[in-house]
Amino acid sequence: MVFLCFLFMDKFLKEIEEKLKKQKKDLEIQLEKLGEKSKRFRNGYQVNFPHFGEKEDENADEVSAFSDRLSIGLNLEKSLEEVNSALEKIKQGKYGICEKCGKKIDKERLLAFPTAKFCLDCKNKK
Ligand SMILES: [Zn+2]
Repeated sequence: MVFLCFLFMDKFLKEIEEKLKKQKKDLEIQLEKLGEKSKRFRNGYQVNFPHFGEKEDENADEVSAFSDRLSIGLNLEKSLEEVNSALEKIKQGKYGICEKCGKKIDKERLLAFPTAKFCLDCKNKK
């Protein structure tokens, strides 16, 4: 049964892998625009502190722009982590299994959300 599933999943997995790799690239490009690579974030990106000027209102703008960038950066990193862990699961042959109940996640759902960790049932139970 499991063996048959893998045969069946093969082409599907390739498609998912392509999607994930593209997502990963997009995320990395966005992160690079946002800041320089460094050790500040878990995946090695640092958000640049913007510099608008020395006046007080300019400084306040800098701080708010920085916190905006920071939260965008953290969201991007979170997505990147999810993409990486999905790619890792493909490698390990564990992709598409619900992390909560261990059942297979619906293919349609995976195509729409390649980083989905839970099946619809478990997600709706949250
Ligand atoms: Zn589940």
